[in-house]
Amino acid sequence: MSEQQLRDQIAELGKSLYDRGIAHGSAGNISAKLDDGNWLLTPTNSCLGRLDPSRISKLDASGRLVSGDPPSKEAFLHLAMYQERPASTAVVHLHSLHAVAVSCLADIDPANVFPPITAYAVMQVGKLALAPYYPPGDTSLADAVRKLATNHHAVLLANHGPVVAGTSLSAAINAIEELEQTAHLMLLLQGRPTRLLTPEQVADLNRRFPN
Ligand SMILES: [Zn+2]
Repeated sequence: MSEQQLRDQIAELGKSLYDRGIAHGSAGNISAKLDDGNWLLTPTNSCLGRLDPSRISKLDASGRLVSGDPPSKEAFLHLAMYQERPASTAVVHLHSLHAVAVSCLADIDPANVFPPITAYAVMQVGKLALAPYYPPGDTSLADAVRKLATNHHAVLLANHGPVVAGTSLSAAINAIEELEQTAHLMLLLQGRPTRLLTPEQVADLNRRFPN
């Protein structure tokens, strides 16, 4: 895919997330790697629903701005994911409603936030890890994400929102949408007797669809 096509795809998918209420205001950011080692990231204070493809920030492998508008202040989250997961070519971070709600719940398992509710959650999100809370701009969060990213392509930032890496932009978007949907389901089912997938069923899915 050419750089122009990737820029257009970021704007198109950003608008789709915004139009469906999965992104709001200037929250959330999307990045994708280029073939030359540079990468694209949505600019600081930009609205995912109204991105101008030509102004999307281009950064080098160390995160320095090459061209375009100043990048999102959450660039360090994307960089941490890329550095720990070299096969990833796209990262999406959102403040989506239901995932943020789950990120605020007490008594969730930080090594595996979601109970095994559906096959698609197991296949696309896998074991969602919880990173501790840090205030906006605190780069200790990058270290926390880096530690978890080696074993998890999906990380939930406590009282903040999800970060997901994928081997393509559409894969990362699909996985974070599945994560948001699963968070919604988890909240709908809270307090109700629930038939979860068994450990055997989860192991079978992991064998059939390794991620
Ligand atoms: Zn954020």
